[in-house]
Amino acid sequence: MELNTQGYNEYIASLFAPQDTALTGAIDDMQSGGLPAINVSATEGKLLQLLALTIGAKRILEIGTLGGYSGIHFARALPEDGKLVTLEIDAHHAEVALRNFERAGVAHKVDIRLGPAAETLGQLAADGAQPFDLVFIDADKGGYAEYLRLSLPLLREGGLLLADNTLPEAVLTDEDSGTKRYNALVADMPKLPSIVIPILRQHGLDGLTVSIKSTPAG
Ligand code: SAH
Ligand code: MG
Repeated sequence: MELNTQGYNEYIASLFAPQDTALTGAIDDMQSGGLPAINVSATEGKLLQLLALTIGAKRILEIGTLGGYSGIHFARALPEDGKLVTLEIDAHHAEVALRNFERAGVAHKVDIRLGPAAETLGQLAADGAQPFDLVFIDADKGGYAEYLRLSLPLLREGGLLLADNTLPEAVLTDEDSGTKRYNALVADMPKLPSIVIPILRQHGLDGLTVSIKSTPAG
């Protein structure tokens, strides 16, 4: 028997992550709108949804909206009075995402903030935003270390910190990369117990770094 990541991915997706019209519509509109196909996979989307449900998340912060595909999964994990705040630098991406959130019937739970994420994160802190239960970092990889620094104070104790696409660059290149630096940083923080979960993609593997902001006692 041979390792076949594509086959494994399709098996899991067909059983556990069937795509409804909101999700296929989001992918179609991203494609016709010329957005890059760099969204999470169906199986990773389901994993994100489950992680949010596990901690009963009511407030989620996403850095990197694209067309709202991962965001729909997060929004579906939220209660009716929950909120997904999602940060995006590209106005066209944000427009496509808004339509996709509307089609999915979750737009009332989503707040898309347009602008460079580092600035918006600074603004959220300055505004005294309520703490988030979950933070998902998935924007420009060079910014990950900065997003860690800026978003950690916005995360509640016991909250989940997730970072996407943290495996291939970190392992396959000798060069310094944003995700490699990110993994090294969180691995070195005793108050942030962490692990990289390998994620199946259609071709090969990627990684999702999962960290918990531990309580003072932890
Ligand atoms: N989370 C999405 C994929 C995000 S792709 C999903 O899985 O469905 C990365 C997104 O980050 C792109 O839309 C890109 O425009 C955005 N981005 C890149 N640099 C950014 C920055 N400095 N601030 C905010 N968003 C940024
Ligand atoms: Mg990603």
